[in-house]
Amino acid sequence: MPPIKDVACPQCGARVPWTPASKFRPFCSERCKLIDLGAWASESYRIPLAQPAESDELPGAPPGDPPPSGRRGD
Ligand SMILES: [Zn+2]
Repeated sequence: MPPIKDVACPQCGARVPWTPASKFRPFCSERCKLIDLGAWASESYRIPLAQPAESDELPGAPPGDPPPSGRRGD
């Protein structure tokens, strides 16, 4: 078995084993990942579209959806 490589979490410096089990690698946890992504996003990616969650009642489909055609009487 090859030795497990580990990396330092970019956020807190904790050792993170580089294995598929470490879901958030190179971060040690989801928390560190979110912190880092958040910092990166706010620094480099200024998203001007800060739209409020106003229309969260989007209908999945328009109510007047026609039934699928192709119904033929036998
Ligand atoms: Zn960390």
